[in-house]
Amino acid sequence: MSDLKLFNSLTRQLETFQPIREGEARVYTCGPTVYNYQHIGNMRAYVFADTLGRVLSYKGYKLSHVINITDVGHLTDDADAGEDKMEKMAASQGKSAWDIAAFYQADFEADLARLNIRKPQHPKATDYVEAMIEWAKAIEAKHCYRLESGLYFDTSTVPDYGRLARANTDGGESRIDPVPGKRNPVDFAIWRTTPAGETRQMEWDSPWGRGAPGWHLECSVMSAALLGQPFDIHTGGIDHREVHHPCEIAQNQAHGDAADTGARIWMHNNFLIDRRGKMSKSAGEFLRLQTLIDKGFHPLAYRLMCLQAHYRSELEFSWEGLLAAFVRLKRMVMLIERFRTKAEAEPAGQADMTISQIDEALSDDLNTPRVLDIAFSISEQKGYAADRLAAIFECDAVLGLNLQSLSRADLRIRPATATITEEEIETALHQRKEARAAKDFAKSDAIRDDLIARGVEVMDGDPLGWDWKLDI
Ligand code: AMP
Ligand code: ZN
Repeated sequence: MSDLKLFNSLTRQLETFQPIREGEARVYTCGPTVYNYQHIGNMRAYVFADTLGRVLSYKGYKLSHVINITDVGHLTDDADAGEDKMEKMAASQGKSAWDIAAFYQADFEADLARLNIRKPQHPKATDYVEAMIEWAKAIEAKHCYRLESGLYFDTSTVPDYGRLARANTDGGESRIDPVPGKRNPVDFAIWRTTPAGETRQMEWDSPWGRGAPGWHLECSVMSAALLGQPFDIHTGGIDHREVHHPCEIAQNQAHGDAADTGARIWMHNNFLIDRRGKMSKSAGEFLRLQTLIDKGFHPLAYRLMCLQAHYRSELEFSWEGLLAAFVRLKRMVMLIERFRTKAEAEPAGQADMTISQIDEALSDDLNTPRVLDIAFSISEQKGYAADRLAAIFECDAVLGLNLQSLSRADLRIRPATATITEEEIETALHQRKEARAAKDFAKSDAIRDDLIARGVEVMDGDPLGWDWKLDI
């Protein structure tokens, strides 16, 4: 097997993965704040983390993977300003903050399953508030100071603050921070004390008054509690390289060894963008996985779309691109069906040559576009059908497209706007076939016209075997 090379944002270099504990890989991924639905850009971050996990498993490591759930509101701004996102949404929906968190967590978990993301551990931040208070108490004397609005971390007390972001610690324009009294503009809240006279739905007693933990604290505390520090790999979207992860690192340095960032390798996926730029929730309307499904796409077409780009590249979303990925997925599923039929009639296979190519590609900083190309090139190679199937499934161990069980029928999803049922279409198509067999072309044309009037295009002889298509 090739050495696994991963791009470490800390050093901005490819590094050979060497586990801290022999045979184990411990990975922590910053999870969602569950105050709203996730958009498909967020889901790109988890497809990436899952691909990393699959590669580590493929390489034989025993994987521990945590994706936390931020169910306590952090603020609308990374820099400790703005409103509490969870309470804001709760107020707008007339529900409790706890109900909001439970609802959107369940929706997130459903999206993970639909994208075939293996079930990680996903602990909730609210279950770790006591541990966060203990952590804050341990670092308070040497690294923190108090302001009226809470307990703040003094970033000048740890070496190299902002090394991950390669940022100047003078703050820069984008980091000008509105909290009065901070010693350094980049200092951040460890504990947010509830202002006198106010009550939050989510608040806890602490030595710094009733309030809520700062957002950055939960990831330090949960990664240490569940994986032990130092652990191997920490992942997140590239925006986290600038603020959230440098803050986590500072907390880890303060709590443990000042020279130790808490995780050996920090990895970041690039953004999903659209014509307006980075997909984000604050931009108003955003695309959810459910939006794609409602339009008739299978969710794994989106997974394939993500895998077609390297995780460190920006990926531009377009409906045409998604359709191309969907067609590619369907071709693969049809190829597998063909090989399955062939394999039944053939003798047992021989040693397969593609395995080392697959390993080489995924060892090259998770080169999923190349793994996909290998999976597709298998159809053009010589060899026994059974061997080719085995090679495709080997690729799928890291691609996670569920190719062993996905069928053509699974891929056909009726758009939410369709008024005609699948059974009605199938019945009409069957009657049309009978009419054609009986050379009753007037009847077969009438059935076809009726289907067209109801938004269904009949696709005779379609190479992708769709038979029919809904006009959306
Ligand atoms: P959030 O709930 O905002 O903390 O985001 C959850 C995860 O999605 C984080 O790892 C973000 O960095 C990541 N993320 C947010 N927007 C995008 C995007 N447009 N493309 C890819 N990843 C994103
Ligand atoms: Zn985090």
